[in-house]
Amino acid sequence: MANRYRYLRPSRPRACRTKRRFPTQQAAAARLAEIAAAPRTRVIPHRAYPCEWCSGWHLSSKEAA
Ligand SMILES: [Zn+2]
Repeated sequence: MANRYRYLRPSRPRACRTKRRFPTQQAAAARLAEIAAAPRTRVIPHRAYPCEWCSGWHLSSKEAA
């Protein structure tokens, strides 16, 4: 669905646009491993999840519900 991203863009209900976005799970997982190896912030993300709003992946420091 090539139009999905553009369609959702104008009214994104979350602040996901401020989050770092990864195009694939692999990219997110690679960044996750990097952060785990050299944490630079107090909150360390340890999970990648697919975003339904931007069709990308984000990192989360929260446990899966
Ligand atoms: Zn997103």
